[in-house]
Amino acid sequence: MRVIGVLGGMSWESTQGYYRALNEGVKAALGGLHSARIVMVSVDFADIEALQRQGDWAAAGALLANAAQDIERAGAECLLIATNTMHKVAPAVEQAITIPLLHIADATAERLQADGLTRVGLLGTRFTMEQAFYSGRLQEQFGIEVCVPEAADRDIVHRVIFDELCQGRVEEASRQRYLAIIDSLYAQGAQAVILGCTEIAMLVNQRDTQVPLYDTTALHAQKAVAWALADEQVKPASA
Ligand code: GLU
Repeated sequence: MRVIGVLGGMSWESTQGYYRALNEGVKAALGGLHSARIVMVSVDFADIEALQRQGDWAAAGALLANAAQDIERAGAECLLIATNTMHKVAPAVEQAITIPLLHIADATAERLQADGLTRVGLLGTRFTMEQAFYSGRLQEQFGIEVCVPEAADRDIVHRVIFDELCQGRVEEASRQRYLAIIDSLYAQGAQAVILGCTEIAMLVNQRDTQVPLYDTTALHAQKAVAWALADEQVKPASA
């Protein structure tokens, strides 16, 4: 089994979800006491959030590139950046390492394509919803059209991520707001909605809505598990 590198802490609330999903994925594939081989560096999210707010993406990229080099030196054979937003600086991180970066948008797009979807809604931070680094990749590399909520709804989605979910708060009123926004994306023609922020699955999941949801944390972790186990003889989980 190959070693998965995780650049986490953005926020640590969602990195817990990665840790669980990676281990559950390996356990489901190999059974028994098997668990994922992981190297993780977890950054201080307050530093990252301040740089985001200042728009200093170069400094954020340098910080994450250093952390990624530490992960590679510690023996990781691939890298996950455990946040959608910070894939804005994925090129800087990728340049600093020699191991492959498994991109979260690719993991998501590959599943959307496999399911035959071509027009989807996107929820995430303001950066993810409004800048080209994420939806542009889906459109240009995978031919998937992306729509986002209107401005007032984007504010709500963004604020809930930073003021609540990244601080471990899960509020029923916010769940209802998200569900209404998901419905409005569906009404605009989205065939499904990407939970394009690694904390959103703390708030809404497929049991809450008929609209198909694509959870980027789960899809990213699944891609990493498949990659880590690519050379294994995978036994049934009960073996
Ligand atoms: N975890 C979130 C994401 O997937 C937001 C935190 C961040 O800004 O990195 O985008």
